[in-house]
Amino acid sequence: MKTLVFDNRFVRELPGDPEEGPRIRQVHGACYSRVMPTPVAKPQLLAWSPEVGELLGWGLSDAADPVFAEVFGGNRLLPGMEPYAACYGGHQFGNWAGQLGDGRAITLGETVNAAGQRWELQLKGAGPTPYSRRADGRAVLRSSIREFLCSEAMHHLGVPTTRALCLVGTGEQVVRDMFYNGNPQYEPGAVVCRVAPSFIRFGNFEIFSSRGDADLLAKLVDFTIARDFPEIEGSPTERRIGWFHEVCRRTAVMVAHWIRVGFVHGVMNTDNMSILGLTIDYGPYGWIDNFDTGWTPNTTDEEMRRYRFGHQPKIAHWNLWQLANALYPALKDAKGLEAALEAYSETYTRESQRMTADKLGLEVWQDGDGDQVERLHRLLEVNEVDMSLFYRALAVFDPDRPDFSVFDDAFYDPEKRDAARPEFEAWLADYAARLSAQGVPQALRQERMNAVNPLYVPRNYLAQQAIDLAEKGDLSGVHTLLDVFRRPYEQQPGREAYAAKRPDWARVRPGCSM
Ligand code: AMP
Ligand code: MG
Ligand code: MG
Repeated sequence: MKTLVFDNRFVRELPGDPEEGPRIRQVHGACYSRVMPTPVAKPQLLAWSPEVGELLGWGLSDAADPVFAEVFGGNRLLPGMEPYAACYGGHQFGNWAGQLGDGRAITLGETVNAAGQRWELQLKGAGPTPYSRRADGRAVLRSSIREFLCSEAMHHLGVPTTRALCLVGTGEQVVRDMFYNGNPQYEPGAVVCRVAPSFIRFGNFEIFSSRGDADLLAKLVDFTIARDFPEIEGSPTERRIGWFHEVCRRTAVMVAHWIRVGFVHGVMNTDNMSILGLTIDYGPYGWIDNFDTGWTPNTTDEEMRRYRFGHQPKIAHWNLWQLANALYPALKDAKGLEAALEAYSETYTRESQRMTADKLGLEVWQDGDGDQVERLHRLLEVNEVDMSLFYRALAVFDPDRPDFSVFDDAFYDPEKRDAARPEFEAWLADYAARLSAQGVPQALRQERMNAVNPLYVPRNYLAQQAIDLAEKGDLSGVHTLLDVFRRPYEQQPGREAYAAKRPDWARVRPGCSM
């Protein structure tokens, strides 16, 4: 297996914990703790992403080498790897939670590829760290498949995200649901290797601020700017505020994409917010089937619905406020921080209008479009219309030959469809007039709309079917989905089933996935 050159700037340039190993503790005055992955019984490569392999310079023969599964199962290091777990805190469900940290994630090393891009390789589920608190540091196959498939799908959808190199089965059982019927429940274990330029979260800054460690906070800020935002120019003060501006901007773009494709993160705690504006930590996430702004896939959030689909833009803003508060001791520029938070709202509004116009096949966003979009969203929501199928059908809809039957398949309830038909037709008449006025040929509009409205998204039931097979030892479902999600906007003949709306049996949402 071809090796890589690791420069590991995070551990080289930032202070670490003097103690090594997984003893659980509060870690002060350090950005990370050195800890080795805990070896597993029988590492076996279950799936890998050739695109991510290529980013790192690895091909099929590297992945087929037994060393690959050993390294990414946590049993062996490549020369130059220096494993560590990062220290961070976070606001969970609106409350400050203190130290959290990488409780089951272990970074192996950072490498710069031939194109000059930096990639950090991180194992998730690789065993206990000083931050594991009361948990085991492991991940189950079920949640690992979900993270592996969804992060790759998000990439191909054009949504900023961390990537996944591979999925390795551990050959060990993991205990979950201790109290189920009074008996411990066992599930197969797995490790995902995640890949991103950086896994630094809002919470990495919040923890030092909360402890009054302004020195370490400033060090981490300047390190992050130098390593991950080299394009930001100016004096040190200007760069710091310019950087926070950029974090706000990227976060706004990311969330606008989530809404565009129908993704619900499910746990937008500040420890799950990437400083690079990447979607990170795929846990109990879900995908919108019928358009429902109030939906959350997270069963632990059913009461408050804090992280529901339509609330995500507001939550991201709230999270940025917490980050701004945490950064204040290092940036000491309240006006600058406020201006950046304001820029979040402006960027979000602009991006969301642009993406919405694209979804509808409108060349530009005009005054009055907001009202029409709200009218449409209400119709979709009240009448249980499948979001993805609706927008694909809207591309087929011809303003010169209006035909409501193109939407037939997007409805979950034929009675609601028939009852709502007059209201939909009224909306469509306005829409048709708007389309005719802009004069874009039908075929071109259809092509443009299909390029932003995905046909194949990781619907919850699809992932669940692949998981059920995988738990019986058959990985074919995972491999097929990985391949389907490579081209989410293209019609794939013979794969119509993967674009189908949620079947009736899958109406009850799957449980929160840890
Ligand atoms: P999450 O809600 O998944 O973002 O996790 C919040 C915190 O709990 C993070 O610090 C995780 O590393 C930690 N955590 C979650 N699951 C485990 C586990 N099985 N073992 C150790 N730590 C965990
Ligand atoms: Mg997390
Ligand atoms: Mg998690």
